[in-house]
Amino acid sequence: MTISYDEHEKLVKSKICYDCIGDAYLAGLAENEGKLRKCHYCNEKQKCVELVWLADHVERAFETHFGRTSEEPNSFEYAMLRDKESSYDWYREGQETAYAIMDSASLRENIAIDVQSILEFRHEHFDLSLIHISEPTRPY
Ligand SMILES: [Zn+2]
Repeated sequence: MTISYDEHEKLVKSKICYDCIGDAYLAGLAENEGKLRKCHYCNEKQKCVELVWLADHVERAFETHFGRTSEEPNSFEYAMLRDKESSYDWYREGQETAYAIMDSASLRENIAIDVQSILEFRHEHFDLSLIHISEPTRPY
């Protein structure tokens, strides 16, 4: 369910410390850019950024590394499904959004859910309930 305007306003300003961001790269950025505040999640007073900062980074990671999965099996998978000897069962690839967010930035579940709420509010139909993770392309 999408959060209300007031909930969104409150959530984006929540403070999160670099220690609560599991992803080493993002944690390093947060430590550099953050200000000394009390973390909303662990109550420690240390370098914090606002949750909207984290949501922006997660959103960018999604745009770069994530795409939608197919909603239907491909022809090979259909053939497998028709084969009565086979125990093959098709399911759509992907992960629940909150879990994908958790993975993408190594966040605890409650933090990932808050980030998801911000992104849902922002896009309203941020339907990434089933998404596919592809390898990030790195320039060499
Ligand atoms: Zn914290």
